[in-house]
Amino acid sequence: MNSLHSQKTPALPKKLLRGLFRQCAWCGGKGAFFTSWYTKADNCQSCGLSRERGYEGFELGAATMGVFMTFGSIISWMIISVATGIALVPLLLIAALLAVCVPSLGYPLTYTVWFAIDITFRPPNESDFAQAQVWLDNRASA
Ligand SMILES: [Zn+2]
Repeated sequence: MNSLHSQKTPALPKKLLRGLFRQCAWCGGKGAFFTSWYTKADNCQSCGLSRERGYEGFELGAATMGVFMTFGSIISWMIISVATGIALVPLLLIAALLAVCVPSLGYPLTYTVWFAIDITFRPPNESDFAQAQVWLDNRASA
């Protein structure tokens, strides 16, 4: 039994918070599946868990997270601006800014937040931990 097995499964709010801060939802490692802001890696750089774990639809889930985050920020902004009486032109300019900035700057977060949801419904199994350990051993010996 290795340290990955013995780790207690984090609660969903903790996993989502880790994802929102671009950390691995499982181990809390900084950067998770990214070697730079936009460069993805297949495994968590801290615990070695694969982000897809044999699930081909993972990218679709991350893209869906991007849509939710972008539209969620625009809709929230519009509700706040209408409620506070902000003029139409600034409202639209900031909404356009959100439409560009949230998906481009939040790109890594779509993966880490989706991973938090994915490991909630599909917790890592023995095979995932074994593959993570092999990945960590290979990285250590390289
Ligand atoms: Zn990790």
